[in-house]
Amino acid sequence: MAQPFRLYNTLSRQVEPFSPIHPGAVSLYVCGMTVYDHAHVGHARAMVVFDTFVRWLRFRGWAVTFVRNFTDVDDKIIARAALRDISPSELAQQFIDEFHADCAHLGLAKPDVEPRVSTSMPAILSMIQSLIDQGHAYATDDGCVWFSVSSYPDYGSLSGQKPDAMQSSADVGTKRDSQDFALWKAAKPGEPTWDSPWGPGRPGWHIECSAMVAERFGHTIDIHGGGLDLVFPHHENEVAQSVCAHDAPYVRYWMHNGLLVLQKRTEDGLVADAKMGKSLGNVVNIHDALARFPAESLRLFYLAAHYRSPLPWHDESLVDSLAMLARLYEAREVAESMEGDGDPDTVAAAVGPEAVELLALARAFPAKFAGALDDDFNTANALGFAFELARSINRVGNAKKARARCGPIARLVIDALKSLHAIGLLTATSDAFQADVKAKRLADLGIVRAEVDQLIIDRTTARTAKDWPAADAIRARLDTLGIVVMDRPDGSVDWRVKLPSSAP
Ligand SMILES: [Zn+2]
Repeated sequence: MAQPFRLYNTLSRQVEPFSPIHPGAVSLYVCGMTVYDHAHVGHARAMVVFDTFVRWLRFRGWAVTFVRNFTDVDDKIIARAALRDISPSELAQQFIDEFHADCAHLGLAKPDVEPRVSTSMPAILSMIQSLIDQGHAYATDDGCVWFSVSSYPDYGSLSGQKPDAMQSSADVGTKRDSQDFALWKAAKPGEPTWDSPWGPGRPGWHIECSAMVAERFGHTIDIHGGGLDLVFPHHENEVAQSVCAHDAPYVRYWMHNGLLVLQKRTEDGLVADAKMGKSLGNVVNIHDALARFPAESLRLFYLAAHYRSPLPWHDESLVDSLAMLARLYEAREVAESMEGDGDPDTVAAAVGPEAVELLALARAFPAKFAGALDDDFNTANALGFAFELARSINRVGNAKKARARCGPIARLVIDALKSLHAIGLLTATSDAFQADVKAKRLADLGIVRAEVDQLIIDRTTARTAKDWPAADAIRARLDTLGIVVMDRPDGSVDWRVKLPSSAP
């Protein structure tokens, strides 16, 4: 059975119990990419947040239908394609393919449907016609069609903006009122065009999402998502179009993710920076981030904050989140290293208060974790509980005696940590995770793997020969490279790349 949850609704500005249109089902539409450039870490926030949200709802028994569009007809695509001397559709396809590859590397599930403007023209044209027929839109002599904002008295209800206080819409042309926005733009020379009853042209931006939602879901959907920067004018205009075309509510819950806030290091510490931009040289593409860091460290970076909060980003952000992720993997390893059998309560009482606390945390964890996620998808709180559990197992694991006896408690901890799979974390084995970290961090730090392997062999040789000064010198050399050597009780030697130790 689908488990109840609560969600902040931008429309009501409060957290509400979720009540679906159809019992047990969730219809979710999220505004996707305008495909004219590489996707960067700012875009990835919305992608990860909604992917994880869908995963979680499905895990909790909801039948989710997830639709995310591609804007593949747009001014920026046309301009970029002209610069590169290829067709706009070629350019769009290239970035759609790259986006799919980025999503696959990030471990994101594909939406159920990914409609594109170029393949949604019949739905777009029929919606525009319906708005004209009902007096909410008008065609002008220049072959454009405009939405008449004054025809919809509730305009502004989502964003809270009053029509008289609004700046005029960005579209220029022969519209009657400065706030009116374009539903159909007349063809300009050299641009891709489609035939329409009002002459050749292409759709305005906002109409595509209204038409795609209607085509896939009908008049009303459960949840519409997107970045906070889309509330006005994009989502406000979607509401106006859909409500006027269908005379029915459009969206029951509006879910908006906060944006990345760029910071940079100065002598005063971290300060707010400008926005991410090519000209500022501070754009980090998803592809480049994933070459340097495991995908789960990106996922954790986004999920460690509440999805509605602004999220600071700086040069060290992913190093920090990788260190946090490594602590979760290490906590699981500590649990896996614990031995012994018996009744967990008896063992805990015998070992001491820290074991008793660990047992209580492990038992309470699954419910606390789910409770946080079901309360406005609070991944930050849910992960806070996971780090609390990790700290507790590390405390217990510090004592050799406890490690030898706490197996029955540790098995409950391992089970509890499996809850994290539902949000896409701790999904790898420790070996696979460590191999990924080594490969990516060494490459990023410019260290050759063979050099590390050779130093480890030389150190073992020196130790076998009891040449302690030589062994220590090699260890010091490894240390300057950022490599930590670990001598195992069974005599084997393992090593890891050093990560920052500041605990969350
Ligand atoms: Zn949209």
